[in-house]
Amino acid sequence: MNSSPRLPLSRREFVRRAALGASALAVSGTPVRAVAAAPAAPVGPPVPPKKLGFALLGLGKYASGELAPALQRTQNCYLAGVITGDPEGKGKQWAQRYGFPEKNVYSYDTMDAIKDNPDIDIIYVVTPNSLHLKYTLAAAKAGKHVSCEKPMALSVAECDQMIAACKAANVQLSIGYRNNFDPYFQEMMRIARWKEFGALKALDGEFTGGNQAGEWRTKMAFAGGGPIMDLGIYVIHASVLAANGETPVAVTAKPGPVTLPDIYKDVEETMEFTLEFANGAICNGYTSYTRKPKPGGAGANRFRIDYEKGFVNFPGAFNYNGTRADTSNGPLAFPGIAVGNNYQQARQMDDYARCVRDKVPTSVPGEMGRQDMKIIEAIYASAKDGGKRTLVKV
Ligand code: NDP
Repeated sequence: MNSSPRLPLSRREFVRRAALGASALAVSGTPVRAVAAAPAAPVGPPVPPKKLGFALLGLGKYASGELAPALQRTQNCYLAGVITGDPEGKGKQWAQRYGFPEKNVYSYDTMDAIKDNPDIDIIYVVTPNSLHLKYTLAAAKAGKHVSCEKPMALSVAECDQMIAACKAANVQLSIGYRNNFDPYFQEMMRIARWKEFGALKALDGEFTGGNQAGEWRTKMAFAGGGPIMDLGIYVIHASVLAANGETPVAVTAKPGPVTLPDIYKDVEETMEFTLEFANGAICNGYTSYTRKPKPGGAGANRFRIDYEKGFVNFPGAFNYNGTRADTSNGPLAFPGIAVGNNYQQARQMDDYARCVRDKVPTSVPGEMGRQDMKIIEAIYASAKDGGKRTLVKV
């Protein structure tokens, strides 16, 4: 049997495909097989594939500021309904604003009835972290495919329950890893996959933000932890992508000083951590809810990978838009993608709808969220143990 590896795409070819909107090819990599020509069918007007209906569950900042607008730009899916604690107010306003029928507005208590609603194919859970488990189980029980925001859950045990429930209900589960659909990140994933710059040597990433006192992100019961759960996870996830999907073998972690004790009584305010990969490559990571201003005023937000023969550097790595990257071969450029318009979320949801429609597995499944949660659990174990080198459970 011929099992020769596929050749890596040249930069030119990748750019051409990205410009054609075929960027998902960079992560799927399924070889195309020649088939015998079918007899000519009667010619009629082409039937466009069905657009799948998304229902957003939890209409907070991310759903209203990013996901709903992104669903206005998608080709394979559209905003078909919502599940909210305020169906009469927010729910009806959303129906009017986005043009879906009021019958597609549900409350958390009535969402069981979604099982009888053919308009809704996918439920996207966008609540505080502690509720991801509950609503993923409810969505699966209603027989709908699930998309769930990061961090997937509060523990690996919860991730296991979510994966099992979706399998039992025969629905897909994807995690909201928007960076995986950014063309610049996809190019980095391709470089990692084909070892274009040789072996991984060192990684360095920072992501910081801030909170108001009393926000759910400052409460352990809702957030499950501090900035590691919320922001550090981006550095962790990007490191795994840069290592072509490999899980680090060990970690170390040390919480930073508490400078805002009134706000950060319950969760850590800052965490410094390292991730150690099997070949000895180390990622130095930093995450904090105390903004660490950079020149220009933005919080810390960057990620750099050094491979044996080259580097990839993302300034503003984890922004919603405007990601760009420099490499040892020069800055990456994608014709047709203006800086500031990477449309990560639209690409992410379009890709998931395509996977669900065509019955192919998503490239960002629950197992990927579980992998990051395993690393996070090891980070918290190390921090608790005075920064001791802690193995990531296999
Ligand atoms: P918000 O607090 O702004 O919104 C959360 C929403 O969840 C609320 O508005 C509410 O919607 C619903 N909700 C249901 N039950 C509760 C409850 N008990 N307490 C509070 N809210 C509740 O959070 P975000 O939108 O910022 O974050 C939501 C999720 O999205 C988090 O898991 C976060 O990590 C993730 N996220 C991901 C990002 C990414 O880039 N991938 C970026 C930002 C967030 P309603 O009023 O409709 O019931």
